[in-house]
Amino acid sequence: MTDFSRTRDMFDLPKGVIYLDGNSLGPLPRAATDRMAHRLQNEWGQMLITGWNKAGWFIEPRKVGDRVGKLIGAPAGSVVMGDTLSIKVHQALASALALRPDRRVILSDSGNFPSDLYMAQGIIDTLNQDHRLETPNPTDVLDRIDTDVAVVMVTEVDYRSGRRHDMAAIVERAHQKGALVIWDLAHSAGAVPVDVTAIPADFAVGCTYKFLNGGPGAPAFIYVRPDLAENCRPALSGWMGHESPFAFDLDYRAGSGIDRMRCGTPPVLALAALDAALDVWDDVDMNDLRARSIELSQQFIDGVLARCPDLTLYSPSDPHQRGSQVSFAFQHGYAAIQALIDRGVIGDFRAPNIMRFGITPLYINDTDIAAAIDIIADVMNAHAWDDPKYQNRAAVT
Ligand SMILES: *Cc1c(COP(=O)(O)O)cnc(C)c1O
Repeated sequence: MTDFSRTRDMFDLPKGVIYLDGNSLGPLPRAATDRMAHRLQNEWGQMLITGWNKAGWFIEPRKVGDRVGKLIGAPAGSVVMGDTLSIKVHQALASALALRPDRRVILSDSGNFPSDLYMAQGIIDTLNQDHRLETPNPTDVLDRIDTDVAVVMVTEVDYRSGRRHDMAAIVERAHQKGALVIWDLAHSAGAVPVDVTAIPADFAVGCTYKFLNGGPGAPAFIYVRPDLAENCRPALSGWMGHESPFAFDLDYRAGSGIDRMRCGTPPVLALAALDAALDVWDDVDMNDLRARSIELSQQFIDGVLARCPDLTLYSPSDPHQRGSQVSFAFQHGYAAIQALIDRGVIGDFRAPNIMRFGITPLYINDTDIAAAIDIIADVMNAHAWDDPKYQNRAAVT
């Protein structure tokens, strides 16, 4: 059994805070501070440019990619780190469309995170080849998959509701109909068991600052099915993805396999923090994590619903249809979240009326959940949210 009191000790959690927002930005892993200081002082400071070889900066996007790969069922050498998730969505989508030149539909859903949809709209404009993006309700995606669909691009866990797609069914039907699948793991990696080999997605992408705790701006990852990678056209043909970057040829030739999904210079400083954050996972069994997440989520849902009649559960009540977050709908949700943050319970708000709470067993336990329920009940029942100071919307909600 995974020892979650040990993983909790691996984080530097501020006193007096119950952090239920690890689905948005994971907390600071203790090891990240020293790892980062080492990279700054011993590597950058002392090695200067020789660090690219001596400290292995050049190959780190692949090394760290392999560590992330272990958490998502990807074989070694099939995942690479870099850029942001939006960029990785662009790369996966552009490659997928090039592999299905006779099809015009990008199928996503109306619950997908807007950046994924915006990136799709941008590609459609750039290609100018009459592609179109369809965004049915999440529950209608499966039935919509047909032979006109080039690529199904879905985020497994809905960022607002926490609803989880049945990826096995989606991939199976997509492949039957000759469509490719891009699986966005933003709210899955480190949250639920994922196996991109067993459920053979063609592309998988995700960020590492949410459940993987890599820190604000941590690099994203991309996986390409190994047998597909050599035939993929990398849309962003930067020099680091070239077959031989330091030959400085005038002509682009894609690197082999997943290397071609590299673009420019990797974020070496950010990779140090992420690498430290990944140490936490070394002794974690994803099935234990999932079981614990379901237990804590149930405790949270039961407690909040019993004591806060103004809140409605917005997430699926069946744990198997949910990722690792719990959302409630409430008309004054923004103000209520601000009142909670003031009292040490950090969740977040998503328009138009969703109060969202991440359940992260690595560092959240049943005592935290019980204390959070007490505070939420106080705020709701005393109408503490109804204070003018909680009404002003900040830039980031
Ligand atoms: C968090 C998230 C993003 C964020 O993209 P960035 O480029 O890292 O800002 C994109 N897509 C999904 C599905 C997300 O959940």
